[in-house]
Amino acid sequence: MDVVVPTAAECRTRSRAADASRRLAACGVDLLFPLQCLVCRRRLLRAWPAHFEQTGRRAAAQPPWVFERFGSRALGFTIQFCEECFDRLLDRRRACPRCGRPVGPYIVADDDCPSCRKRSQAYRRVSRLGVYDGVLRQVCIRAKSPNGGPAAASLALALFLHQRQRLESPGYDAVVAVPTHWIKTLTGHHNAAYTIATVLARCLDLPLLEKALIKHRRTPDQSELPGKLRRRNLIGAFRVSDAQAVRNKRLLLVDDILTTGATATETSRTLRRAGARAVDVAVIAIVEGTR
Ligand SMILES: [Zn+2]
Ligand SMILES: [Zn+2]
Repeated sequence: MDVVVPTAAECRTRSRAADASRRLAACGVDLLFPLQCLVCRRRLLRAWPAHFEQTGRRAAAQPPWVFERFGSRALGFTIQFCEECFDRLLDRRRACPRCGRPVGPYIVADDDCPSCRKRSQAYRRVSRLGVYDGVLRQVCIRAKSPNGGPAAASLALALFLHQRQRLESPGYDAVVAVPTHWIKTLTGHHNAAYTIATVLARCLDLPLLEKALIKHRRTPDQSELPGKLRRRNLIGAFRVSDAQAVRNKRLLLVDDILTTGATATETSRTLRRAGARAVDVAVIAIVEGTR
């Protein structure tokens, strides 16, 4: 059988044609189902990074490959925030690198802050998009609703773009989502942590360890319990079902909201006991004033 090897020029033409058809298909989808900002409902001309290209602003914050890899709504990974609403999600105050909580301008917080300095923490550090308040709180609540996939994916992409260097520099080996009990998945509850972890794993080009960490005991809802009981409520609730997958690995543990840190602490401890070398946490929002 003859094998026809295309020339370099033919390859370039083909790749340009494939590129053009992909963009044409994306435009068609946008015409039929126009994208709207999830917060203010303003129509977005195209998927977010391309929208920013059109406005000619924030060029450094938008790696072009994000549109190429995540712009297709067929994949469900599109940022659906306009530029103004994206800015309102962020918390621009200085954050403690260890616990992720905002710190005042005159406080020394190079490695930790006064509120976490004396506390032992099973995870090394926290990366987050903003504080659980205002617009970010609204979108986080939406991300947990039964149709919360686009909101959760948009938040995950926003987190990646905002904290890209912090998420890439430690050189993680894999991403793990904070799991929910399987009964909860039967009740139409959207697992926001899992969607966020999926998007972050793709952005960081890392494997997502889907079944390595499981929640094997049902627990009362954390939001209904005071701080001390939250920690007790979760003791022994998680289990590593695939120790080989986590042993000696640097893991990025992903959840949607960090309140007292009880869930992050218990899941990190479980992973460390199973042999994980280090665990860092990435969340969309951090709740201020809770410990
Ligand atoms: Zn908006
Ligand atoms: Zn701190």
